[in-house]
Amino acid sequence: MAERLIRAIDCLIEEGGQWQLRPHDIAIAAGRITALAAPGSIAPSDNDNVIDGRGLIAVPGLVNAHFHSPDTLIRSSAPLLPLELWSLHSAAGRERRSPREAYVSAMLGAIEMLASGTTTVLDHIRVSPDIDGPVLDAAASAYRDIGMRVVMAPILADIPVAETLPLTPTDIGGDDIAGWGRRRPLPAGDQMAIADGFIARWQGKSDRIHCALGPSAPQRCSDDLLDRIAALARHRKLPVHMHLLETEAQRAIGDRHPGGTLARLGEIGLMGPRTSFAHAIWLGDADLDRLADAGAGIVHNPVSNARLGSGFCPLHGMLARGIRVGLGTDSCCCNDSANLLETTKWAALLGNLVTAGPERWTGPARALHLATAGSADVIGLKLVTGRIAPGLAADLTLIRHDSPALVPLLDPARQIVLSGASIVIDQVLVAGETVMQAGRASRIDQTAIWAEARELAAARLSDTEADYAMAARMAGPITRMRQRLAKERAE
Ligand SMILES: [Zn+2]
Repeated sequence: MAERLIRAIDCLIEEGGQWQLRPHDIAIAAGRITALAAPGSIAPSDNDNVIDGRGLIAVPGLVNAHFHSPDTLIRSSAPLLPLELWSLHSAAGRERRSPREAYVSAMLGAIEMLASGTTTVLDHIRVSPDIDGPVLDAAASAYRDIGMRVVMAPILADIPVAETLPLTPTDIGGDDIAGWGRRRPLPAGDQMAIADGFIARWQGKSDRIHCALGPSAPQRCSDDLLDRIAALARHRKLPVHMHLLETEAQRAIGDRHPGGTLARLGEIGLMGPRTSFAHAIWLGDADLDRLADAGAGIVHNPVSNARLGSGFCPLHGMLARGIRVGLGTDSCCCNDSANLLETTKWAALLGNLVTAGPERWTGPARALHLATAGSADVIGLKLVTGRIAPGLAADLTLIRHDSPALVPLLDPARQIVLSGASIVIDQVLVAGETVMQAGRASRIDQTAIWAEARELAAARLSDTEADYAMAARMAGPITRMRQRLAKERAE
């Protein structure tokens, strides 16, 4: 027995790497698609909530596999600078975040994502100065309240930032960098207890809220912390998500470990199919082979990589090796959009600039696969979302045929990806429930959240003077370090 029926809708379905438009009735029960059938062949029962699908295209809800919700409240506050300098500015708005700020910030991102057709997000949630249970609970509550599907991956890190950059005395020169980035984080055991408590409170309590572990990055975690993360992930069968080799400086510090960063992760069991790595830019061929052998996933963030000047991600080399790849927007301080469709267009086209031969280009059809089933797979939700198929969640974006971008309609996947800025979304369903219609969230007062967000952001950004002064003092050393690393690479 269906509970919801979408009648006579054109469904965008991927078959053998090709996207086809197929008209169907979609029956939905208990949040899942129970049947796809010829239009008009499923009779609604008296209690069914029916959507007339004529004039609409159902697309799998997009899956944003790398996002940091706390940054949305201070969207666009950080200047366009390389990651190491950018992070000094973006950190200014992060400290001492209240649960209410975390809630409003997560809600802001969820509204933007749902409005642009994303139904699932992996929130690699950074709670500064340290992981904090009530703040994590507040962010998870925001996703619960608005009805979005989420994988909550709390960030864990126990090595001060100052110890994770390969700065030499020559780089530092005469600059005064005392007091920068040296605060001792909470001990590994305490951080794990908070993460474990959060997971115990949320995992399995709602079919839309999933949990993972989110070590910040290998260079920011002690061996003790990584061992504990690997043990808890094994014990609770959790996905693990972390940044990996995003900048050249990270490559330089990572190489100080015998065998390099990937060898270290492999030894402790953090490089298998349950692990996904965000960015993964500074990898050589041997690294990519190792990742492919291990079955680990990658989350490609092309807009963030360009915004931060981090480097060129070898997407083609990953796909050619059969590495599982998804897409992410990264944070609203380094993109500055949470619109995954825009990121999908970048993923479709960017490699054309450096990849000889169109047969090796990614293209819009493959990019759309990465943004849906690909992302769902790398964050552990392959059997939950990312495709329009019986048994999977009814996470659907319904696009109007009379969108400016879709007239005339020659190649739906190509047009949705490449002309995505001009599509019109009628409504968005998560687990069969309409959670966004005509750009307005159904369950919450979006206008009130926006008003509160403006006030909270103004208050938070009014007190950044000390942090920005520190960023200015670090500009010289970090710039010299970056220039030295680039010169060493060229030699
Ligand atoms: Zn990130």
